[in-house]
Order: sequence, then structure tokens, then C-alpha cells
Amino acid sequence: MHGGVRYLEQGDIPLVLEALRERGLMHRNAPHLVHHLSFIVPRYQWWEGPFFGIGLKVYDALAGKLNLAPSHLLSREETMARIPNIEAEHLLGGVEYFDGQFDDARLAITLARTAVHHGACALNHSRVTGLAKTDGLVSGVHFTDVETGTDYQVKARVVVNATGIFSDEIRLMDDAKAQRAVQPSQGVHLVFDRSFLQGDSAVMVPHTDDGRVLFVIPWHGKVLVGTTDTPMDHADLEPRAMKEEIGFILRNAARYLARDPEEKDILAVFAGQRPLVRPPGKDGTATKAISRNHEVLVSDGGLVTIVGGKWTTYRQMAEDTLDKAITLAGLEDRACVTENLQLHGWRSPNAEPLPDWLAVYGSEAADVLALVQEDASLGEFLHPRLPYQMVAVVQAARQEQARTVEDVLSRRTRALLLDARAAIESAPKVAVLLAKELGRDKAWVEAQVAEFTELAKGYLQPES
Ligand SMILES: Cc1cc2nc3c(=O)[nH]c(=O)nc-3n(C[C@H](O)[C@H](O)[C@H](O)COP(=O)(O)OP(=O)(O)OC[C@H]3O[C@@H](n4cnc5c(N)ncnc54)[C@H](O)[C@@H]3O)c2cc1C
Repeated sequence: MHGGVRYLEQGDIPLVLEALRERGLMHRNAPHLVHHLSFIVPRYQWWEGPFFGIGLKVYDALAGKLNLAPSHLLSREETMARIPNIEAEHLLGGVEYFDGQFDDARLAITLARTAVHHGACALNHSRVTGLAKTDGLVSGVHFTDVETGTDYQVKARVVVNATGIFSDEIRLMDDAKAQRAVQPSQGVHLVFDRSFLQGDSAVMVPHTDDGRVLFVIPWHGKVLVGTTDTPMDHADLEPRAMKEEIGFILRNAARYLARDPEEKDILAVFAGQRPLVRPPGKDGTATKAISRNHEVLVSDGGLVTIVGGKWTTYRQMAEDTLDKAITLAGLEDRACVTENLQLHGWRSPNAEPLPDWLAVYGSEAADVLALVQEDASLGEFLHPRLPYQMVAVVQAARQEQARTVEDVLSRRTRALLLDARAAIESAPKVAVLLAKELGRDKAWVEAQVAEFTELAKGYLQPES
């Protein structure tokens, strides 16, 4: 959840302002999921102190009242105390600033649950296969329940297409001649043991060898290093890291860490694709230069599509999209309330701190612990190398719409992303407990374990 130090360097002040504001709102509305994180920019050249020091003061100022904490210069000794394993050779000092950190999947679940409390109906494992039209205008969608294979049609006054990198597929269902609006850009992260980054601060590498920034970040007890920005010619549901991307991250991280991370140290590697707005007529534009702004498109048939943007600005993206949808549907124009809406599980940031795996449940943590009190076996850990207890599986099935082992190990817990081998080893016991919760049989358990293991192999270190 960041304002975007890199966007500041690119001079995109309106985007930075918007993102810093949203970062502040999120910290207020979901303090159980979004917290401050200290970032340190190490300084190895004399000019980096004034350059980054002044730049980050501007960043503070742009955040205004919603700034998390002021940035400041650190001496060489202070920098080494905060990041004991920073590369010490030629180190002059650092600049510390603050941004927000969150868990994307937990926020997505929280948002879905908040929406349901407010009257929404949220279906997962349902694929839109076509649009229904009346007099040339979009009037609903056809979709398939992927679990049962049953097809359905639902009527709607407005259909919003918020399918990220797949937005163009849905737009083509509406208009076979629609021009591509999305440019997928791939980003890869590598995960390492926490010993590679001691201390509680993250490292921000301001200049990689392709002119980007790289982050080394503590996350759920491991270290996350990334990312890359590779233009892709098509959207991929399960993108895979390329060898060059892994090499790029290892090479650049090694420049700043005293102990160089190697391929054999990788606990997990994962890739994602950003749905960037495709600049019209500029096919060759490097994706790192494409703005992270969002756009709401309305087709002649009345399909509303949201493209671009970033997680940090999701609330503003939703507000802009809904404003268009309200007009199209002829609904009463009401003011948006999400700026001050506490999300599901809101828990005071001043309350007693909880262990990391429990904190994401916010005010529901007590219910989760009560399940363990009823059945002590739910207090067992999924795996010695993972922070999660078995109760997370039950909670995921009962409260968080988890339907598969992958849902539990990738998007309710983050086991797959933290340690892919440990996740594979946990899959059988997760499948058995999930089957009990969902009323599934032995054949389902076997199929789920096989399916998950196959998928998870793509998250292992390359030579495994
Ligand atoms: C490597 C990387 C790093 C990033 N870092 C940051 C960061 O630090 N900060 C930040 O703010 N943002 C960051 N982003 C950007 C952010 O993650 C994306 O902008 C955001 O996830 C896109 O969300 P979305 O909802 O538009 O798309 P998605 O999250 O892709 O959601 C689209 C959904 O639509 C569903 N869907 C697709 N087709 C269909 C269909 N036919 N029927 C039903 N459902 C369908 C998909 O299953 C998916 O669930 C990063 C992105 C990447 C890849």
C-alpha cells in the first residue's frame, strides 16, 4: 500500500497524491490488515543523502495529514543497526521512510465479506462465459458454476467488468471489434528465509540495473524480494517466472545484502500480471514507463470496464466505477461511503497485539481461538516451517468461502507463497480437514492433493 516513490521520481504527482491518500484511508479503515513498515534506502554515494532525503520529504508532504511518520536520514551505524546484514562496503548511511504493508489476498476476502454484510451476493469459482443483451444493450451475464458445471444466467441493470488482465476477453464478448485496452506486465517475487534480512525494516533499492526499484521486505516471517516489470503479449491465469527474471532479482539483491541469496535458497517463487492501461498507438512502450493510473471505460452496449490502477487505489477505482454504473442504471445518485467505512474485522490498532497469523482475522481472532478451545487438534501447525494452525482451514471453509486446497494454501493462508515445499507437504492434511468441512469424499481428497501438488511445483526453486 504505497504512494509510489518511483512514480514521484517519474513526476506523476496526481497519482502519488491519490495513492498516499488511499494508503492513509486504508490504514484507518482496516488497521488489522494494513500497517506501517519502515523502508530504508541505503546510501553508497555522497549525493544520495540530499537526493533521496529531499525526495522523501516531498513524499511526506504530499501525504499531508495522512502521513504515516516523517522520513529522516540515518548514519552508517544506525543503518547497520537497523539492517544488520546490509552490504557494509562503501556504505555511507541510509534514508528511512514509511509506507503501508498489507496482505493482498486477506484484503480481498475482507472486502468480499464487507460487501456481503452490506447486501452483496459474492460467488467464487463462477466463470462468466458470455453477456446477455437486450436491444443491443448488455442486460446480464451467462456464467458457469465451475464446481458443478451448471450454467446460469443473471439479469442486471449494469454489468461491471473488473477482471484485471482478462478485461479484454469480456470486452470482446460485448464487441467483437473492441481494441485491446490492457497491457499485461509480469512481476516476479522470490521468497527467502528471514535470516537474509534481519531487523524489522525493509530495504528499498533505488536503482536496479534496468532502472527500476527493488524491495527486500519482511513478510509473514519470511523475506520477499521483488519485483520485475516484463511486458507480456497475453494474459496468463497461472503465470510463471522466467529464468531471466529470477536472475535479475538475485543479482540486484546481492548488491545490497552482505549474504548473497542464491537459487538454492529460494523458498518460493511466484509471478503476477499487472493489468496496465494500454497506451493507444504505443505498442512498444516499456511497461515500467506506463502509468499506474486507472480508467473506467463504457462501451456502446453499456458494459462498464475498469482497467489499470493498483491495489492501493482500489477504493477510488471502485468509487469511480460505481459513479458510472449509477448513471447508466438510472439509480439515485448517493454519496460514496467507503472513505469512512470500517472493513470487516476492524480492530483498534491500540488493542493488544496478536501473533502475525492471527492478526489478519482482526476482531474475529477471538472466534478463531474459540474453535481451538473446542477442539485442541485445530491448534496443530500445518507444517513446522509455516506459521499457520489447522484452525485456519476450518475458518476458511466456514467463513471465507474456501472451496479447494489451493484456496486455503494460497489465498486464505499464504503458505504456497511463503514456502512452496512446505505447502505441498501440508496439502494432504489440509485436504482431509477441508473434505470434512465441505462434506467431500476420499476421491475428492486425492484429486485435490494431486491438483494442488501439480500447481505448487511451479512455485518451487527452479532446479527442484
Ligand atoms: C508483481 C506485482 C506487484 C504489484 N505490486 C503492487 C503494489 O506494491 N501496490 C499496489 O497497489 N499494487 C500492486 N500491484 C498491482 C495490483 O496487484 C493489481 O493492480 C491488482 O491486483 C489488479 O486487481 P484487479 O482486481 O483489477 O484484477 P485481479 O486481481 O486480476 O482480479 C480479476 C479477477 O477477475 C476474475 N476473472 C477473470 N475472468 C473472469 C471471468 N470470465 N469470469 C469470472 N471471473 C473472472 C479473475 O479470476 C480474478 O479473480 C502489483 C501487481 C503485480 C503483478
